[in-house]
Amino acid sequence: MTILRHLTILGSTGSIGESTLDVVARHPNRFKVTALTANNNIEKMLEQCQRFQPRYAVMLDVASAEQLAKMLKVASLDTEVLSGVESLEKVASLPEIDMVMAAIVGAAGIRPTFAAARTGKLVLLANKETLVMAGRIFMDLVKDHHATLLPIDSEHNAIYQSLPHQFNGDFSAQGVSHILLTASGGPFRERSVASLEQVTPEQACAHPNWDMGRKISVDSATMMNKGLEVIEAHWLFSAAPEKIQVVIHPQSVIHSMVQYIDGSVLAQLGNPDMRTPIAHAMAYPERIDSGVEPLNMFDVAHLDFESPDFERFPCLRLAYDALSMGGNMPAILNAANEIAVEAFLDEQMPFTAIPFMIEHAMKQVKHEEISALDDVLSADASARDVAREWLKRLKP
Ligand code: NAD
Ligand code: MG
Repeated sequence: MTILRHLTILGSTGSIGESTLDVVARHPNRFKVTALTANNNIEKMLEQCQRFQPRYAVMLDVASAEQLAKMLKVASLDTEVLSGVESLEKVASLPEIDMVMAAIVGAAGIRPTFAAARTGKLVLLANKETLVMAGRIFMDLVKDHHATLLPIDSEHNAIYQSLPHQFNGDFSAQGVSHILLTASGGPFRERSVASLEQVTPEQACAHPNWDMGRKISVDSATMMNKGLEVIEAHWLFSAAPEKIQVVIHPQSVIHSMVQYIDGSVLAQLGNPDMRTPIAHAMAYPERIDSGVEPLNMFDVAHLDFESPDFERFPCLRLAYDALSMGGNMPAILNAANEIAVEAFLDEQMPFTAIPFMIEHAMKQVKHEEISALDDVLSADASARDVAREWLKRLKP
């Protein structure tokens, strides 16, 4: 018999949020949406409330929440509307919730994701920034509160599927040599480095294989996304940095691999569609239909691999540096990157300025150990200030 599981989706109006709802809609006897959350996209939230009739809808923005409440009343829906960060935390930790899809973009996702772990939920983690900023604290929280963590990021989900069953982080005892983290190389893999200065936000967001939110699309173009994913893999799988090798694979058919000491390499393949890892994690350990087209090997025909070019993609190097420095440095990297991506998307600075802004913040903000979430949030705030100051000086 299938048990109905109650779900909160943090960031339901985004790319991952919508893919999650698409999987939910295919399995009404398995999943019930109890809470949906968004920043300020009222139109989409209204549509989602009409379709999924959640108990709660949270808008971060107060004015958006007020407007949504009026619209729901007109539509005769009894979804309760809440606002603010505390309400995001509340719906991530309600006693009736079994699982939480953590799909808010950026550092804003950290507090509600922590709330889900603290209350022992099954946490489906798309918000990689939580692990980048506060990896050790978050992994300890998951363990101490008997939460379960399953990765949604396609690479990490592929690694999870390719590692030994119940992998305990001991590479040598379980015969694992290393992780091969694949990367498409983004839209600028073959473009001349000299012309990168001129690229527009639209060009940077036009990913060759994946359809994603704008922030992660720019991260893919700089390859900061892969850098963040190296840090994410480090915490999820207890992998030392030298055990994580980035492999450029432009077709995005292999989503990552695990190399074993006996010479075996196990991989997970599929069409590039986030509904596969979402369905995998939501139904784990069962397998359910995700709506994704089956992979046709004859259409794929070729699989190519290259090593990454650290000159072309300085952000990847900065992420490895932040990981090896540890403490608050990955949080500084992440925060400065968020400011840099925002400034580039707002056309306040060129694409090529992104790594310079991040490097500046990594040098200016004091490198310290972290022992609590507050330490992480204070590094995040300082890095944002330093990055904004740098931007002011850059502008004429
Ligand atoms: P998106 O921009 O499409 O959606 C973000 C969601 O978060 C929206 O619902 C938005 O309303 C909400 N949100 C934004 N700012 C917020 C704030 N300050 N407070 C509360 N809510 C806020 O982003 P996305 O592409 O769906 O990515 C979501 C997360 O998943 C990111 O961490 C990203 O790195 C990760 N991820 C995405 C993909 C993908 O294919 N899109 C793949 C792997 C990992
Ligand atoms: Mg990914």
